[in-house]
Amino acid sequence: MDFTKMLHRFTVVPSLPDELAALHRIAYNLCWTWEPEAIELFKRLDQELWKETRHNPVEMLGILQQATLENLKHDDGFMSHLARVEEKINDYLSARTWYERLNKGNKGIQFAYFSMEFGIHESLPIYSGGLGILAGDHLKSASDLGIPLCGVGLLYRQGYFRQYLNIEGWQQEYYPENDFYNLPLHQERDKEGNPVSFDLDLAGRRVRVHIWRVQVGRVPLYLLDTNLDENAPEDREITTRLYGGDQDMRIRQEILLGIGGVRALRALGIDPQVCHMNEGHAAFLALERIRLIMEGLKLKFSEAREAVKAGNVFTTHTPVEAGIDHFPADLLEKYLGRYYRSMGLSRDEFLGLGRQNPKNPYENFCMAVLALKLADFSNGVSELHGDVSRKMWKNIWPELPEEQLPLTSVTNGVHMKTWLATEKAGLLIRYLGTRWLEDSTDHNLWRKVNRIPDAELWRTHNRCREKLVDFSRRRLKEQLTKVGATAKEIVVADEVFDPDILTIGFARRFATYKRGTLLLRDLDRLERLLNDPTRPVQIIFAGKAHPADHQGKELIREIIQLSHQERFRHRIVFIEDYDMAVARHLVQGVDVWLNTPRRPMEASGTSGMKVAFNGGLNMSILDGWWCEGYKGNNGWAIGSGEVYDDIEYQNEVESRAMYDLLEKEIVPLFYDRGVDGIPRGWTACMKASLQTLCPIFSTDRMVCEYTERFYLPARRQSQLLENGEFALSIDLAAWKEKVHRHWHQVKINEVEADGTQEVSVGDRIPVSTTISCGEIPIEEMSVDAYFGVLDSRGAIVGGELIPLETVTPLGHGNYRLSGEMECRFCGRHGFLVRVMPKHPTFGSVYEPGLLVWG
Ligand SMILES: *Cc1c(COP(=O)(O)O)cnc(C)c1O
Repeated sequence: MDFTKMLHRFTVVPSLPDELAALHRIAYNLCWTWEPEAIELFKRLDQELWKETRHNPVEMLGILQQATLENLKHDDGFMSHLARVEEKINDYLSARTWYERLNKGNKGIQFAYFSMEFGIHESLPIYSGGLGILAGDHLKSASDLGIPLCGVGLLYRQGYFRQYLNIEGWQQEYYPENDFYNLPLHQERDKEGNPVSFDLDLAGRRVRVHIWRVQVGRVPLYLLDTNLDENAPEDREITTRLYGGDQDMRIRQEILLGIGGVRALRALGIDPQVCHMNEGHAAFLALERIRLIMEGLKLKFSEAREAVKAGNVFTTHTPVEAGIDHFPADLLEKYLGRYYRSMGLSRDEFLGLGRQNPKNPYENFCMAVLALKLADFSNGVSELHGDVSRKMWKNIWPELPEEQLPLTSVTNGVHMKTWLATEKAGLLIRYLGTRWLEDSTDHNLWRKVNRIPDAELWRTHNRCREKLVDFSRRRLKEQLTKVGATAKEIVVADEVFDPDILTIGFARRFATYKRGTLLLRDLDRLERLLNDPTRPVQIIFAGKAHPADHQGKELIREIIQLSHQERFRHRIVFIEDYDMAVARHLVQGVDVWLNTPRRPMEASGTSGMKVAFNGGLNMSILDGWWCEGYKGNNGWAIGSGEVYDDIEYQNEVESRAMYDLLEKEIVPLFYDRGVDGIPRGWTACMKASLQTLCPIFSTDRMVCEYTERFYLPARRQSQLLENGEFALSIDLAAWKEKVHRHWHQVKINEVEADGTQEVSVGDRIPVSTTISCGEIPIEEMSVDAYFGVLDSRGAIVGGELIPLETVTPLGHGNYRLSGEMECRFCGRHGFLVRVMPKHPTFGSVYEPGLLVWG
């Protein structure tokens, strides 16, 4: 008997006295998470409950006794605190924003940001790590800046796993259920009060989807949910776990996110002009956008594609292909066979969209390739990662030199107000004023950090370190209690760590490339370092390993076992269940943040940025963001950015470099105190770090960059293509088809340059070429010399394009074209002539297959 079918269900909501209704309003907009006064307000309700609910005010309001609430109503102090917070939040929501000033009065613009995970707060556990936190910080800054953006993701019933460690140090996973009614969720409903819903077809099964909304300041985040009675059990599971399950589950989740996400927005009456795919998981959205236009206007796939491509943005986060989803053809056939055929695509055409070489039947369908092919704006997440990504994906554009690939970079950032300790924000306000809170990208403002007296900076940081030590002891005690340690062992937890000594933090996913145990390679050396009688050091670790990553779990166990050894017991602590709350304590209290990825595996990394805002110093391999952040005086680089073939050798070299740095530079600097006990060399370094890194590595800067470089141009471009029932989009598709048909006739016959022997800097060299255009008019050809200095292998590096624009007809579709190259540098030069098609409106257009070098 299935009793669940017979259940009558109802929801009990807390009955707040009217006077306290504002509490409810504040709890349901997650901008409270970056408003310190609001956090204080909730703590004031009940300290213990605050901790027990994992800082979840919605749940708290449901648990609080009616009597407590009645009492609060008569507590003047509390009521004025409440009024103050509500006013602050209302002010925030109605303030004039950066975007309004930039884009005066231009209404009706809408951007959408799709991501598999969003890390907004620990109480909403629908994230696993860096990718999700970045997405959360993106929404928060979009809210601060007033960008008309909404988020789209999945609402997981169990989210990502929680971690605890058994007595031997093995990671154990558990999956508590998220109770939607105790989370800050609004179910989207229509005018009649019925849930807004839509259907998806998955291998012949109809799946119904509901939509929930989380309000993140001004920005709504829509979360999809398939856990409904009317769905088949296997489809109810789609929104159970983040990154759980097999490939079959993953493709269904990605269909839900991409195709379902676009349908959800439509069901809500939202029509975004630009869609941003945060990693390839969301790439199916491009297909659905195309399909909707085809259906509405009776267009062909190729005709709708032009406009949609122009309005898509794709951000890749992975420097290895294995880290990206690939699906075998039969799985795609199973779930999307009917779908692609309904769009008039053949099997090969469809599968080709996910292959670097569309004609290679052995390539699996790759979500990143799909995204790259269907987004005109693509980027990696640091300059180095941009380079790495262009190398990874260059075969998608076989005719282009690497530096010209349409794949650039926007370096990640962090949401300052989420990660900054309240004490430190206070200090900055005292010496910088408050303008940095609205515009954190002004370098001049951050120069004022010099005005902060060293003693005050140091005192403030000491307080944060003390709090971190307190927090670590408390958590360690809880961990020991849980695994049944003896009372004597638990008491020892009060003696671990010292609030006054150099504190190093290392917390991140325990993936092997992050090399969590590089510091443990020479235990005797480590012991001497940590237990130095006058200049001791302590290290705090945290992080989860993927449930299937045995090696990652082994690394965690190694650290735990070490921390049980007598010689390390007081100096090494591993904190379980790394989440945003643990991360906040760590980044706010450590002196040094250690980061040891194997270059170039860390696409960007963001925790070091959180540390930088808090005056902590980074010690990192030159990888990801640190290649751009490191300036010589604002932290430390381990090594100088070498890449080794022999991993074992590399580990050895870099681990030694790390010990050397600690022993010879970092520890001495930290303990070099003036008579007043202040380490002036260290505080100088803290200031240099704040000044150089804060104006750059925030999501304020990052979201502005996405808006100016991608969102607004993408919107303009896609509007242009869509105007007049997609006239230009249709025209462009037809034109490309024509060019494709005739392109085989295009030939470069001769290339000539005068003075090819020796020329002086500043000389101008005439170049000319003769080409045959066949049936393509010469006006539709773009002919350039690609010219520059040669490297040792004879390849042009960082070449420039010189248009050859003087045209002489030679008859029969043949032309001579000429121009001049200016030699601005000494050295071996070379050039090539390049012919591409040129569209009357869009100028030269690159399409794989439509480019000739000569
Ligand atoms: C910031 C953050 C990350 C990202 O860490 P990186 O290793 O720097 O990419 C992961 N998890 C949590 C909980 C974080 O707060």
